[in-house]
Amino acid sequence: MAYPCSLASRRVGLENCLHILCGTLAEGRGPGGVLASDWGWSWRYGFGYADAVPTKQKVYPMCKDCNYTIHGAQHHFGWNNAIPPAERVEPGATILFHCLDSSAGQFDLSSTVDAVRAPDFGKVNPVSGPIYVEGAEPGDALKVSIDSFAPSGWGWTANIPGFGLLADQFPEPALNLWKYDPASLAPALFGKNARVPLKPFAGTIGNAPADMGQHSVVPPRRVGGNLDIRDLAAGTTLYLPVEVAGALSSVGDTHAAQGDGEVCGTAIESPMDVVLTLDLIKGAHLKTPRFTTPGPVTRHLDAKGYEVTTGIGADLMSGARDAVSGMIDLLCATRGLSAVDAYMLVSTCGDLRISEIVDMPNWVVSFYFPRCVFE
Ligand SMILES: [Zn+2]
Repeated sequence: MAYPCSLASRRVGLENCLHILCGTLAEGRGPGGVLASDWGWSWRYGFGYADAVPTKQKVYPMCKDCNYTIHGAQHHFGWNNAIPPAERVEPGATILFHCLDSSAGQFDLSSTVDAVRAPDFGKVNPVSGPIYVEGAEPGDALKVSIDSFAPSGWGWTANIPGFGLLADQFPEPALNLWKYDPASLAPALFGKNARVPLKPFAGTIGNAPADMGQHSVVPPRRVGGNLDIRDLAAGTTLYLPVEVAGALSSVGDTHAAQGDGEVCGTAIESPMDVVLTLDLIKGAHLKTPRFTTPGPVTRHLDAKGYEVTTGIGADLMSGARDAVSGMIDLLCATRGLSAVDAYMLVSTCGDLRISEIVDMPNWVVSFYFPRCVFE
């Protein structure tokens, strides 16, 4: 997602926290870039970001094979090919990225809905990087092997006024805070009895665009960026066009779960660590991103089947809106949810699909809600 940082006091708190983190971890990268320190996050053990004061604990062992570490403080907002690299790496390097959540720390487990009212859209979707890959040139493809995730154990989902597929129907802000077990990744509780299967992934992975200047991180681009593709999870290989020397690749906007469409505008927004291996395919002349998944992509959702609603008409956006509205109505009627809670819930686990786009002049958009959430 794309989200902001408006509360100055909270931001100061974050920056202090990052300063502490950076101060303690910046020297952690030993020769060859391997994380040599044994400092770790308390969040690894299930605490929220608000409690995430660095404590002397074992560092998460997910990346003993990493060549480099990019810390949370090494982030930037928006895309700009003039941003100096956070690191220069050889093709084939494996990198551990500490990623902030998409609010850049504005939300924590003590946040209330007031935090959603006046977001600062100048501070949205921080991405960690950029990484300069030696030898990368325009016309190459960056091969991104998505190796693993170490989730934090907490997250948030919000309805931000003016943002989301049904923004006109949901003008009031709403916020849901999540806690989940980062080790087991057992389905996360929403409300009293909904449980959302988790599948961590990075919402934003991209390279710097060739166009000079500062560009918003919100829209995805030919070089990737805020793709919000749920299946960019562990084991997937993503290929991105390179438009500038070194590629200048960054990652962030980590999600613990999201449905296809991310319909309310946010997923389970959750800070986490990500391990990527960056390699090059010379002269690939890739036009847009593509990816390969290691296996089935909805196995975590399929077991109990789906409830499905549809939208039918000549406009795919209207069809998508009708299909999602229909599901919200169904969940309100059958599960006793408020409309905005249903909207946020389906954003984290329901999938929009184009069922038919040939039977002119009406196309069919379906919305699949996994029944396992309530069973
Ligand atoms: Zn996001």
